[in-house]
Amino acid sequence: AKPVSNNFLRAIIERDLDAGLTQGRKFAGTPGDAAHHEGGQVDPARIRTRFPPEPNGYLHIGHAKSICLNFGLARDYGGICHLRFDDTNPEKEEQEYVDAIKEMVTWLGWDWNAGGTSHLFFASNYFDFMYRAAEYLIEQGLAYVDEQTPDEMRANRGDFTTPGKDSPFRSRTPQENLARFREMRDGQHADGAMILRARIDMASPNINMRDPALYRIRRATHHNTGDQWCIYPMYTFAHPIEDALERITHSLCTLEFEDQRPFYDWLLNALADGGLLARPLPHQYEFGRFNLSYVVTSKRKLKQLVDEQHVTGWDDPRMPTLVGMRRRGYTPEAVRAMVESTGVTKTNAWLEYSVLDGYLRADLEGKAARASAVLDPVKLKLTNWVELFGSAEHKEACHAPAHPHVPELGTRNFTLGPDVWIEREDFQEVAPKGYHRLYPGNKARLKYGYIVECTGCEKDENGNITAVLATIVPDTKSGTPGADSVKVKGVITWVSAHEAIAAEVRLYDRLFTEEQPDAGGRDFLEVLNPGSKKVVTAYLEPSLSAVAADTKFQFERHGYFVADRVDHRAGKPVFNKITGLRDNFTK
Ligand code: ATP
Ligand code: MG
Ligand code: MG
Repeated sequence: AKPVSNNFLRAIIERDLDAGLTQGRKFAGTPGDAAHHEGGQVDPARIRTRFPPEPNGYLHIGHAKSICLNFGLARDYGGICHLRFDDTNPEKEEQEYVDAIKEMVTWLGWDWNAGGTSHLFFASNYFDFMYRAAEYLIEQGLAYVDEQTPDEMRANRGDFTTPGKDSPFRSRTPQENLARFREMRDGQHADGAMILRARIDMASPNINMRDPALYRIRRATHHNTGDQWCIYPMYTFAHPIEDALERITHSLCTLEFEDQRPFYDWLLNALADGGLLARPLPHQYEFGRFNLSYVVTSKRKLKQLVDEQHVTGWDDPRMPTLVGMRRRGYTPEAVRAMVESTGVTKTNAWLEYSVLDGYLRADLEGKAARASAVLDPVKLKLTNWVELFGSAEHKEACHAPAHPHVPELGTRNFTLGPDVWIEREDFQEVAPKGYHRLYPGNKARLKYGYIVECTGCEKDENGNITAVLATIVPDTKSGTPGADSVKVKGVITWVSAHEAIAAEVRLYDRLFTEEQPDAGGRDFLEVLNPGSKKVVTAYLEPSLSAVAADTKFQFERHGYFVADRVDHRAGKPVFNKITGLRDNFTK
């Protein structure tokens, strides 16, 4: 892949590689902690990035940005990208999420085993090291145990205009702090009774530097370490250490972490000064978040949609989760192309589904087989059938290419009979100007079949049209010498009634009616789109009778559809509409 220029991180990496800053990186920590690092020695001149999800939910399109960025930079510069589970928050984390995250990173086409070595890590494997690092800070007078109540801590933290106030526990001796911290570890204090804090500067203009929390007491079973610990490191303490232990060179995170960078550097320098970590240390860089319009991309809000059953699950095809987008029918190629097209900037980006749909069409246009489907069926009766062919049982064989430009995909075979399904909109009793399909007296072609002339329609007692009537124009079958003997402007799609497959087809629209559903603190549930899912019974051509789940098609004139990976089965077909042939969304 050719590096693109709309990525300021590339300039930084190229500068660093030129300066040889990644050379000679050595792991200087306790060897036990480095057991799963390859020998503690870094290949010279290699960058190392990481994708560090917290396994507390399913990945969404924003994560795809981070995945493609981190793995993509490693690929482009001959480096290595780690998949690291940032699992320091036991109550919310589950094995189910670990498995789902791995599956989706792979689905997007990335490999944390590149070069035959596993680069899969768990932050929880560093708990021993983190604990020792905390004791080291205490010994150095750089951390203390604070027994203020959470309310007191909050009040004493101050705000943007007011400096914070020192905790009364801030002046304890290292010995006292060490004893207290060990009591915390040994389960002698209740959850929330006290925390370990860094001792930095309660008057710092950066509130993140006002003695941030490092460890908390939490009796919770961890998916990896079980009940071994009742204290857990805070994200802000754990994350820099994880990066340093893994010898990450460029630690990329979203903009909201910019104010955390001073602490990131403070902590790593303190630990490197003590010989616990090796220099050069990783460096944090921030980039803008990636959002899709008309959805929300916050795990908490997505979980709420699932828990309150506004959607059918994390993999509901309307969800911006990767499992949802996969189920909807989006391809990894389209997702990657979309996130890569946006580059990397210092501002948060909002992208439209229409952009993603453009990449989806570009991906599927050349490879999805075509098929006929009637989504809003009305019957068309060919009233001169017996007269022409002798019997209602007679069927006319018809053929169509599976793909107009990919002959290898072969031919679709189907038959025309006296009754066919057509789209309701393909008949008008009184045709508007420029309408070339069926109306009394007009001729149109049944695609891949005959030209027919419309003679009228049948109605029920309420005046609803129950059938359209037409006669076949003899000798006009597609592919025969007479096909062009009669000129028509309208071509309509159809499926014969005698061989049509009834299928459930799910038509999706935006999940929310507002472009930024949660903007300005709005309750995003108030702007849910009540019409975001419509289910119809459609008629499909017989070649679709035995397709595998997850197969994608272009239903002629309708757009791209996929056999639903969960509900579709032979005998009970279920298809999802991925997107139309053109962008039909209007603002
Ligand atoms: P959320 O806010 O949705 O819960 P998160 O940031 O808490 O997401 P993590 O699992 O911690 O989720 O994220 C893993 C990585 O993905 C982080 O490096 C994070 O910065 C990145 N990331 C998350 N959301 C986005 C986004 N919308 N755009 C770009 N990167 C993102
Ligand atoms: Mg997070
Ligand atoms: Mg978050």
